[in-house]
Amino acid sequence: MILRSPIKHCRNCGAEVAYRLPDDGDTRQRAVCPACDTIHYENPLNVVGTVPYWGDKVLLCKRNIEPRWGKWTLPAGFMELGETTAQGAARETDEEAGAKIEMEGLITVISVPRVGQVHLFYRARLLSDLFDPGHETIEARLFAEDEIPWEEIAFRTVKETLEHYFEDRRKGSFPVHNFDIH
Ligand SMILES: [Zn+2]
Repeated sequence: MILRSPIKHCRNCGAEVAYRLPDDGDTRQRAVCPACDTIHYENPLNVVGTVPYWGDKVLLCKRNIEPRWGKWTLPAGFMELGETTAQGAARETDEEAGAKIEMEGLITVISVPRVGQVHLFYRARLLSDLFDPGHETIEARLFAEDEIPWEEIAFRTVKETLEHYFEDRRKGSFPVHNFDIH
C-alpha cells in the first residue's frame, strides 16, 4: 500500500523517528520518536469539492498541475484545518475556477483507502457563467452531459460523482451516495 512518504523526523524535537509498534498496545506501526517518545499518527485526508452547475451544464477545470496534467476535473482539493467540508469545497471552487457559487447538498462521500483519502462533493449553483481560473487550472468551462470528455476525466471519484449528479438530476431527487473505490 503506497500512501504518503514516511515520516523521517520528529515534529516535536527533530530527532530521527523509527516505525514500530508503540508500547501502549497499539496494533499498527507508527513513527515513534526515540528521543521524546512522541507518536506520530497518520490518518486519511479529506478531499472536498463541488459540482458547479449552470442550467443543464456543469463546470469542469482542465488541470495545470500534476498528477493528471491536462485532464479535466471538478474543482476540489485538500480540506484545510479550521474549515468545514462545505467551506473547503467553496474555497477550492473559488481558487481553481474563480467561480461564484451558492453551496447546496452533498452528492458523494467516497472512501479511497488505497491512497488514504475520503472525497466529498457538493452540488453548487453557479451565480455567474464568468470564471477566473487560478494557476492550477488551464481552462474552466461549462459542459452539457453529452459534451463531457469522459475519457479525459482526471480521477475516478470525479467521474463517478458526475455520473451520479446527472442521473439524480434526471430523476429529480438528490440523495447522498456513500461508497468506496478500491
Ligand atoms: Zn521527538
